[in-house]
Amino acid sequence: MDTDVVIVGAGPVGLLLGAELCLAGVRPIVLERLPAPSEQPKARGIGVLAAEALRRRGLGPELDREHAKGLAALAEDHGTTKTHFAWIHKIDPEAADPGRRGALIGQPALEKVLRHHLADLGVDVHYGFDVTGWHDDGDAVTLDLDTPTGPRQITAGYVVGCDGGYSTVRKLAGFGFPGTAPLMTVRYAHAEVSGRDQLPPPGRLPAGTLFHDDGMIATFDFADAAYDRSAPLSSNEIRDSVRRVAAVDITIDTFHGGLRFTDQARQADAYQLGRTLLAGDAAHVHSPNGGQGLNLGLMDAMNLGWKLGATIRGLAPHDLLATYTSERHPVGAAVLHNTRAQSALLAPGPHVDALRDIMSDLMDLPEVNQRLARMLSGITHRYAVPGCAAHPIVGTHCPPLTVNDSPLEQFTTDGRPLLLHPQAGNLDLGERVRVVMAEVSSDEKLAAVLLRPDGVVAWAASPGEDLEPPALHDAVNAWFGRTY
Ligand SMILES: Cc1cc2nc3c(=O)[nH]c(=O)nc-3n(C[C@H](O)[C@H](O)[C@H](O)COP(=O)(O)OP(=O)(O)OC[C@H]3O[C@@H](n4cnc5c(N)ncnc54)[C@H](O)[C@@H]3O)c2cc1C
Repeated sequence: MDTDVVIVGAGPVGLLLGAELCLAGVRPIVLERLPAPSEQPKARGIGVLAAEALRRRGLGPELDREHAKGLAALAEDHGTTKTHFAWIHKIDPEAADPGRRGALIGQPALEKVLRHHLADLGVDVHYGFDVTGWHDDGDAVTLDLDTPTGPRQITAGYVVGCDGGYSTVRKLAGFGFPGTAPLMTVRYAHAEVSGRDQLPPPGRLPAGTLFHDDGMIATFDFADAAYDRSAPLSSNEIRDSVRRVAAVDITIDTFHGGLRFTDQARQADAYQLGRTLLAGDAAHVHSPNGGQGLNLGLMDAMNLGWKLGATIRGLAPHDLLATYTSERHPVGAAVLHNTRAQSALLAPGPHVDALRDIMSDLMDLPEVNQRLARMLSGITHRYAVPGCAAHPIVGTHCPPLTVNDSPLEQFTTDGRPLLLHPQAGNLDLGERVRVVMAEVSSDEKLAAVLLRPDGVVAWAASPGEDLEPPALHDAVNAWFGRTY
């Protein structure tokens, strides 16, 4: 065997997974088909959970540096810094949970931060390595590769497909990918257009939605024709789509390229098949509405990294790796569900116009606004971990805490399981957990807390409770094995 684990794809999810595996004591090989990092602008930012996860790894200053730029760009493009549900821009992201914040950082800038983070941990990406074949013999997986120096093979104990929505790994390994076909196709072009004065104002039209501004034109096309999905967006394709959506013929004078994507919503039926796993867009695709894909994929990587690392090192409790699918699949399904609702609200026609008016009015209610903000951020999701009933925070991603007057991230950059406890000196938990004698200060009425490496609360106690109940030892045994 050449290596313990190969990560296929160096998008944001593959890069973060690589770093998390390093922190868990396993050095992965990371393969990327492109000859160099992608500069394609996709996501404009990351949600609360992913931003907090990266801050816990010490990347907060980089996120904060980009955030101010991202905020200004958002205000310029949409006239507001509110986020949207089905393009109704009324959601206050801070409303999800005051004090918890995402980060507006463009995807290329984020990938650069993650690439440097991974390189600092000793792993460089192999660019120009395209995975073309897959074979699992039960003991290891062998991949066929096209590389800059010709074809070769690599054999690994585990392979993780982080290779995006069209995932080769997912297809070769035979994962089921059920879901719903697209209702609409979105086309976004950087282009100089003659005849723009003939176009209706940006907004909803009988066959979709049209946006245009100096140097850009975009359609949400519900009356789509067949097109070659493998070909890049062309000027003829955008012209035809504008004709369908707006019933206007435009001339595209200069076409600088663009993007095409749909709202198809599909999810792998499991995230693990034998020695092959999926994370990020390879495991789930859906429309970008509500800006959830990157957050979802990065949190897959956080969840998987320490579990796969412990499994490879023989330190994991029985079936730890299976909890990757059981915890993450429902979170992905919830995102698919709300993006389908958003597609329904974007469909053209007077009935949906009426529904949008009602929805827009409802979003003025603070309770509704907060409910949607929480749903899009994913912070309300709670894993069904053992001991869940003991404290409302168990099973959730830990909110920012103050620990002995310092921020939580000062104790989490090494990625180890962490117990914050006021009587740490009296506890004997072996080497499995980093134990810090700490006074915890938070809004959550916490006296002590046990965190998994992905920031999920595995056990917590309120002030006045027994601070060394059997439940604490049960949680350590359940998550961190007996042989750490
Ligand atoms: C227009 C647009 C706007 C978006 N806006 C948002 C937003 O506002 N917020 C948000 O959260 N998300 C948004 N998203 C979604 C977000 O961009 C994706 O969820 C994110 O890129 C997923 O990351 P990933 O690493 O899983 O996959 P990708 O970023 O797709 O990376 C996969 C990588 O794998 C490589 N690869 C593929 N096949 C192979 C192979 N055979 N061998 C080796 N390498 C391979 C690819 O070259 C690529 O680099 C948007 C997406 C689009 C298209």
